[in-house]
Amino acid sequence: MSAGKGDRPPSNLPEAGPEPGHEYPELPETRSIGAWRDAAAHCKACDLWTKATQTVFGEGKRTAKVIFVGEQPGDKEDIAGRPFVGPAGRVLDEALEAAGIDRDTVYVTNAVKHFKWRTGGKRRLHEKPNRSEIAACRLWLDAEIAILKPQVIVCLGATAAQALLSPTFKVTKERGKLIPSPLAPHVLATVHPSSILRAPDDASREREMRLFVEDLRAVAKVIRGLC
Ligand code: SF4
Repeated sequence: MSAGKGDRPPSNLPEAGPEPGHEYPELPETRSIGAWRDAAAHCKACDLWTKATQTVFGEGKRTAKVIFVGEQPGDKEDIAGRPFVGPAGRVLDEALEAAGIDRDTVYVTNAVKHFKWRTGGKRRLHEKPNRSEIAACRLWLDAEIAILKPQVIVCLGATAAQALLSPTFKVTKERGKLIPSPLAPHVLATVHPSSILRAPDDASREREMRLFVEDLRAVAKVIRGLC
C-alpha cells in the first residue's frame, strides 16, 4: 500500500502531514499491518519521539471489526510498547466484557503513537497532544483504518473524536450515536476510559462506567449485524 492520498480515507484535518522540518520514514508498499508497525517505529514526523521510549502502534487481529481509537499511549503503554495495557486498558476490557464484545473482534490504537509528557516530581505526567502532532500522526491511523477496514470506529475521548469526526465535535453531547462516515460504515464517540478512573467518587465512577457500557452496547449490536 502506498501512502498516496488516494489510498487513504479522507482526513478531517486539512493540514495532515509531518510537522515542518520533519519527515516520515520510508513507507511500506504492502497492506501488511506489521510492515506499517515496523515503519512507524522509526517515525520522526513530529518531536514527540524524542522524549518517549518507543512508538506504540495499534494492536489486535487483522480481522477485527472494530477499531478503538484513544488519544495517545500513557506511561505504562510507553514502557510496554503496547496500547491500552495500563489502568485505562483494564477499564476498557471490563466494559467490553460487560457490553458482550469479544476482545478478539477489536483492534486498539491511538490518534498519536508517542507518549507526550512533562515532569511532575518523580512521575511523568500526561500532556495533551496538539493539533499539529495529531495531524502528523494521522498517516499511521489512516493506514490502520485502510488496512483493517473496520465496521465501526470508536473514538475514545475528545482528541480522537475531534481528529476523526470534526474539530468542533462535543463528546458530551453526541456520545453513543452511530455516525456514518467515509472512514467506516459507523463511527461512534464516547468517553476515554481514563475519565472514568478520574471520577471523584465511587457513585459517579459506577454511573460513568454504566454509561460507557451502554455506548459500547450500540457497537455490539453492529457487530452482531443488528444495525
Ligand atoms: S507522535 Fe506520531 S507523528 Fe509524531 S513522531 Fe510519533 S509516530 Fe511520528
